[in-house]
Amino acid sequence: MTATSKPNLAGLSLEKLRVLFADMGEKPFRAQQVTKWIHQRGVLDLDAMTDISKPLRDRLKLTTCISLPRIVDEFASADGSRKWIMQVASGSSVEMVFIPEAGRGTLCISSQAGCSLDCSFCATGKQGFNSNLTVAEIIGQLWWANHELGGFGGRLERPVSNVVMMGMGEPLLNFDNVMDAVTIMMEDCAYGLSKRKVTISTSGVVPAIDRLKDFTDASIAVSLHAPNDTLRSQIMPINKKYPIAELLRAVSGYMDSLGDKRVPVIEYTLIAGINDHRQLARDLATLLQDFPCKINLIPFNPFPQSDFRRPSSSAISNFRQILQEAGYIVTVRTTRADDIGAACGQLVGIVEDQTQRSSRHQRRRELVAAHGKEFDSTDNLAVAADSV
Ligand code: SF4
Repeated sequence: MTATSKPNLAGLSLEKLRVLFADMGEKPFRAQQVTKWIHQRGVLDLDAMTDISKPLRDRLKLTTCISLPRIVDEFASADGSRKWIMQVASGSSVEMVFIPEAGRGTLCISSQAGCSLDCSFCATGKQGFNSNLTVAEIIGQLWWANHELGGFGGRLERPVSNVVMMGMGEPLLNFDNVMDAVTIMMEDCAYGLSKRKVTISTSGVVPAIDRLKDFTDASIAVSLHAPNDTLRSQIMPINKKYPIAELLRAVSGYMDSLGDKRVPVIEYTLIAGINDHRQLARDLATLLQDFPCKINLIPFNPFPQSDFRRPSSSAISNFRQILQEAGYIVTVRTTRADDIGAACGQLVGIVEDQTQRSSRHQRRRELVAAHGKEFDSTDNLAVAADSV
């Protein structure tokens, strides 16, 4: 399956398929038929789409394509999680992870090959950026997960019940493609996931959050990771451009637009000695006191390019307790799939870096090793906010 310049039926939302069929002089219901074949039944061969007439199938073969990315490797964790590596058209590889839990199965999906934002606790950020994924490359991850897990073929309960856009990349920097892919995820005649079961996780691209309500009503998670701008700017360069107050204002606006009782999830990666101090938990409780939310604490998952450390169990527990005593619903994310490098913050794939960031990080580490200087774990953050 290779990409061509023809419209790719696998990457078109129902609305865009309707336009395509209208332009062909065909009835709009054809869009629903094709969507069902591809995304509900897992069929990619036009000749197998038996409720579409042969002449129309022949026309579609000439003028369109059905193309999904290729799976090039896969790993199974001892805890039942699965990781697949997919090659995308830009030549890079991206990763997606399926995490089964009691009563649900969550698929963590990538939106970009690499990432320009260089958050200091994230392996993807160390690789620099190569490309935005196309709609077919994003929705293709859900298609492949269903294919590999037996989710096609009329099963009432599909193995993937939840999708989180928390894999490689910042989803809101690939806005249009992510919006179309999320729309397909939630389409009844495609995957039929509810707005509560599709979560877009963002590091805080404020102008994009402001636009979100015009395109989707999916759930949202916010990577916060620090309760003040000084610390957040050190570990997340994007904060220099969009500070915390602006971020919370934009997220509140989006939540108001939803008109239901959902609240955003605040993601907070706990890094030993960096942002796990008890006073920072108190500061976080104060910061969020007028911001309805749930808080998800994620103990840092080590990866080779980082000297950050995971906090002790007692530090995690203290941080959690302070927030709970302040009245917040707090969860601590259980580490899953770290034996296959698929835990939170560990996803890497193979990225043809266009930013030189991966080589800069490598040079810095070589210099530090050669000169014996202490590695300053908040010193590696420099540059990316400018590229937002
Ligand atoms: S945490 Fe997300 S936004 Fe930050 S570098 Fe990693 S992929 Fe990019």
